[in-house]
Formats: sequence, C-alpha cells, structure tokens
Amino acid sequence: MRLIMLGAPGAGKGTHALLLSKEYNIPQISTGDILRSHIKNETDLGKKAKKYMDKGLLVPDELVVEIVKKRIQEEDCKEGFILDGFPRTIPQAEALDKALEELAIALDKVVNIDVPDEVIIKRMAGRRVCSNCGASYHIENKKPLKENICDECGSELKQREDDKEETVRKRLQVYEEQTKPLIEYYEKRGILLTIEGDGSVEEIGNKIKSALEVSK
Ligand code: AMP
Repeated sequence: MRLIMLGAPGAGKGTHALLLSKEYNIPQISTGDILRSHIKNETDLGKKAKKYMDKGLLVPDELVVEIVKKRIQEEDCKEGFILDGFPRTIPQAEALDKALEELAIALDKVVNIDVPDEVIIKRMAGRRVCSNCGASYHIENKKPLKENICDECGSELKQREDDKEETVRKRLQVYEEQTKPLIEYYEKRGILLTIEGDGSVEEIGNKIKSALEVSK
C-alpha cells in the first residue's frame, strides 16, 4: 500500500501516519522529521532547511524531493510506504509522479484530513514533542505519564519553535496557498479520500481505516 497523508499542519497527519504504519507494517516517511534530524545533526541540508522552517516557510522543493526519492527506494519501502508531509506543492507532486513512474510503482490513495483552522491553532498550542526521540504529546489530549517527560525515552518535552501561534498562522497561510491545490490534483485522479478530522484520535483513525478498506 502506497499512501500520502494530506492536510494542514496540525491536522493529525503524523499521528495517523504512525498508526497506519503499524497497522499495515509499512514505513512512515515524514519529511518534517527527516529535516529536523538533519538540523539536530547540523548537516549542510539541516543548516539550509532551518532558515525556512523556523519562519514557518516551506523548504525549497529540490531539497525535499531528493530526500524522498532516495528514501522510497530503500529496502523497507518494497511493500509500500506512507508519505507524511510530502508532497506539499504541485511541483513536488509532479516530481513524485515522475519518480514513481521510473520505479514502475503507483500510489494507491491520498488521505486528506480536513480540520478547521481554529481547531488546529488550539491543538498546536498544546502540542509538545520529545527533544530526543520526537514522540508527540498534547498537554490536554495526550498527556505523558509524567509531566513534561517522554514516555518512550524519558527525555524532556518541548514546544516546537514552529508550533508557536504566530508561526502556526504563517504555516496555515502557506498551506492554503501552496499545499491546498494538491487536493484537486489528486481528486482529479480519483484517489483522494477526504476525512473530517475534528474528533478523537480513535474516531478519526477508525474513519480512515474504513475508508481505506471500502475503497480497496
Ligand atoms: P511538519 O513536521 O510536516 O509539519 O514539517 C515542519 C516543517 O518542515 C514545515 O513547516 C516545512 O518548513 C518543512 N517541510 C516538511 N516537509 C516539507 C515539504 N514536503 N516541502 C517543504 N518543506 C517541508
């Protein structure tokens, strides 16, 4: 199964990509996580990407396209993969199409999680991530067992720089302008599944799973 998770920042792409990745036993490929690990390791790519990410802007297409092209050719992607946060622009989607064609593989579905902006702003203000392993929590909806400490690895939880309200508003504007056109792009192909994403993780996860089963 080859899937794309589409949706505004904070819509729940990462959470549901992770659940689906466990369900179908295929890797979740998050360009945001890959870029953050480059920043942490202070690579050249990380240094370039940080300038854009801290401002809530998109990293240039050519940088992310190269990351994804390489990643989808790795051994663990043979049975499929879930792209989380890629593509985010029409040129990225076109580059992905070309890469998939060269590899003689095709996308199965694009899951579009639709959440109102105000819900997103509230959600992201409460999001905390582990400074070490990247696991994601929420101060109200997904509390860690011990306050501000990661359940997985015991490290401190932090608010992502780009989850601060002003940057979130910028990211939502970038989404409207550059990423939203992808909905029509994949709708025209007949592979888009739109899921209303305002509800509990469990409810939305069940809706996504049934939509994928029905459309098989
Ligand atoms: P995310 O964790 O998916 O919300 O991504 C965090 C940030 O990483 C975004 O706001 C962008 O600056 C950058 N980023 C992640 N994926 C992409 C992409 N496909 N294209 C451009 N920038 C990206």
